[in-house]
Order: sequence, then C-alpha cells, then structure tokens
Amino acid sequence: MKPTIVLVGRPNVGKSTLFNRLTRTRDALVADQPGLTRDRHYGIGRVGEREYLVVDTAGFDPVAKDGIMHEMARQAEQAIAEADVLLFLVDGRAGRTPHDEQIAARLRRAGRPVHVVVNKAEGLDRATVAADFHALGLGDPLPVSAAHGDGVKQLVEFVLAPF
Ligand code: GDP
Ligand code: MG
Repeated sequence: MKPTIVLVGRPNVGKSTLFNRLTRTRDALVADQPGLTRDRHYGIGRVGEREYLVVDTAGFDPVAKDGIMHEMARQAEQAIAEADVLLFLVDGRAGRTPHDEQIAARLRRAGRPVHVVVNKAEGLDRATVAADFHALGLGDPLPVSAAHGDGVKQLVEFVLAPF
C-alpha cells in the first residue's frame, strides 16, 4: 500500500502548487483566486523507488456551516480520514493567522501525524518563521518553497520515513 499524504490549509497558502510539484502534473488548479479548487485531487508522487499518494484539498474551513464552504469543509474532513500523514500548509509571508489557529485546533485531534509546512519561505529568516508557527502547537515547522522547490524533497523523505 502506498502511504497517503494529505495537504490541508487555508486557501492561497500554496497547496495546489505543492501538489503539482510532488506529482509533477498540472492536475491541481493553481489560482491566484483563493478557494478556486473546490474538490479533492489525487496524484502519485515518487521519491527514489518509493511511491506515495498525494491528496490536494480545497480551502479548509472547520467552522463554516453552509453552502460551498460547508461542502469544502466536508471534503477536508473526508481527506483527513484518508490520510496516513497530514501536511498542514501555512504561508510564511502572511505569518500565523486566526484561520491557521482554527485549523490547528482541528488537526490536533485528527489522530494522525501532522507536520506544519511553512510555504513561500524562500528568502525568509528560518528562525523567525519557525518561532511564529511553532506557536500553533504542532511541533517544529518545516520551511519549503513549493514554487521554487526548496526543501520539498527533504520534506517528503522526512514525513515518509516512518512508513
Ligand atoms: P492553494 O489555494 O493553497 O491551493 O494555493 P495555490 O497553490 O493556488 O497558490 C496560491 C498563490 O501562492 C499562487 O499565486 C501561487 O503562485 C503562490 N505560491 C505558491 N507557492 C509559493 C511559494 O513557494 N512562494 C511564493 N512566493 N508564492 C507561492
Ligand atoms: Mg488549491
């Protein structure tokens, strides 16, 4: 069985960009408009000989109760249930937001390994970024740049090591 990595996080943090880099496809819709990818996307990633499944989710909102936001939250809950490991993406340029805090609260009771991945970290001070997101209470944040590829291979090797 291939391990399943699920990407979660609020809209516009770079989930689809990371999905595309991991799967080397343009399957996920990358948009400047937040929340455009409204469904889950599945792709196959490879590191060395090892294959894994990657799931891209729409903008994760654990509190929304109606309409499209409710549907997106439902999709995200299903994706959590499918995960062997969750990558919780945050935006290193925007810094920690209240929405990140809400998602962190949900993920702390996911019953699955969660790694905080600080995207858009190219050119940022690692120590400053790490301190900000460490406060989410989900361990040491892992900085990457999905757009440039920095840190992505190391990230996958690290999170898949236990599987
Ligand atoms: P999603 O809503 O979480 O799926 O985010 P997207 O993948 O659609 O990306 C949202 C925006 O962030 C797009 O404009 C991307 O080009 C940009 N972006 C994604 N990754 C990076 C990165 O590593 N660095 C920077 N500077 N921008 C990024
Ligand atoms: Mg997306």
